[in-house]
Amino acid sequence: MNAFQEMNSPLRTIMTPGPVEVDPRVLRAMSTPILGQFDPAFTNMMNETMEMLRQVFQTKNQWAFPIDGTSRAGIEAVLTSVIKPGDKVLIPIYGRFGHLLTEIAERNGAEIHNIECEWGEVFDQDVIIAEMERIKPKVLAIVHGETSTGCMQPLDRIGPACRERDVLCIVDAVATIGGTEVKVDEWKLDAVIGGTQKCLSVPSGMAPITYNDRIEKVVNARKKVERGISTESDRIDVREPIRSNYFDLSQLQDYWGPRRLNHHTEATSMLYALREGVRIVLQEGLKERFERHRFHEEALVEGIKAMGLELFNDVSWKLPMVTCIKIPEGVDGESVRTMLLQQFGIEIASSFGPLHGKIWRIGTMGYSCRKENILFVLAALEAVLIRHKAQVKTGQALQAALNIYETTNLVMN
Ligand SMILES: *Cc1c(COP(=O)(O)O)cnc(C)c1O
Repeated sequence: MNAFQEMNSPLRTIMTPGPVEVDPRVLRAMSTPILGQFDPAFTNMMNETMEMLRQVFQTKNQWAFPIDGTSRAGIEAVLTSVIKPGDKVLIPIYGRFGHLLTEIAERNGAEIHNIECEWGEVFDQDVIIAEMERIKPKVLAIVHGETSTGCMQPLDRIGPACRERDVLCIVDAVATIGGTEVKVDEWKLDAVIGGTQKCLSVPSGMAPITYNDRIEKVVNARKKVERGISTESDRIDVREPIRSNYFDLSQLQDYWGPRRLNHHTEATSMLYALREGVRIVLQEGLKERFERHRFHEEALVEGIKAMGLELFNDVSWKLPMVTCIKIPEGVDGESVRTMLLQQFGIEIASSFGPLHGKIWRIGTMGYSCRKENILFVLAALEAVLIRHKAQVKTGQALQAALNIYETTNLVMN
């Protein structure tokens, strides 16, 4: 007899910066039958997913496809395929994920140049451009939305500045894709990495990426096809091949492109999930979806402030989908989080590094970004804070949020 119980994961209200709740339509798509990886029914889904991803990334790039693995797999695929040992890479850091970009570039032997600003700040774009002028890097890698600090770095002038100086601009838009504008072509970003488990509201396990011909040129120059499947014309001597097989974009694009050259076995059920996830995004409309994120953010923020709590990221560069709250003096932040989960089934996040123990982070991403979730988290947080003897203004938070919900003309749920 098997002593383990049948799978039965509890229902939660997930208000973290990922993973977030998944639309039931995505879960249904994941439970549909498996197809072979070269079945035309499946390759057709691959093509459709690429086309929908182009629209989500607002790009005309040929290449827009998912890397199998979590979001950092997308980051690693791009950086590993582009960076050769000794290449100069400039990485501005304003939170945890700038350190991750650095870590991955470093492991690829890059000559790293960092500039840092305090957690909670972002860079003046001119500072980055000036640094680029001085260093003359091959690559600028930067985070668009720092979930660790709830800040969003403007990129609209950085991309064009990179293009003028022939620097490759690589952007981690894991947290922002599907939740706010990420204008790949207009901002002249050369490669952009998105995430599934944040604003796309798909489970973790894939990382949609897109890149243009400037990146493709670098990648193709390092192309080496796996021996067991290569043909005569593939067998050329490459001086500095891409060091990873799994993350080799030159081979991956041959798998996702018309050649359909076998590489890994595509993650079937995850592709179903992503396809349905981006279909939902486009069905809602990008503009409408971004507005929805802003709208619920406003209701949450008004509620938090009415309770008498202070935001850590009450700034013009606030990330719309992450609201960081200062943990009130004398309150045990972890005890509050535990009680929220145990009594209400609500999950909010703590933070990392210098902000650990100082802030809570509430995510309003994708399918989790809904009115009933906002009202529920405000009500529960107030109740839990009262039980923790924190100084809060009672009875105000929900009223403030309801004021937003009732006075707006936007019909949203
Ligand atoms: C969540 C996140 C990641 C890492 O994602 P994993 O899926 O955990 O690998 C990277 N960058 C940013 C900005 C993120 O928010």
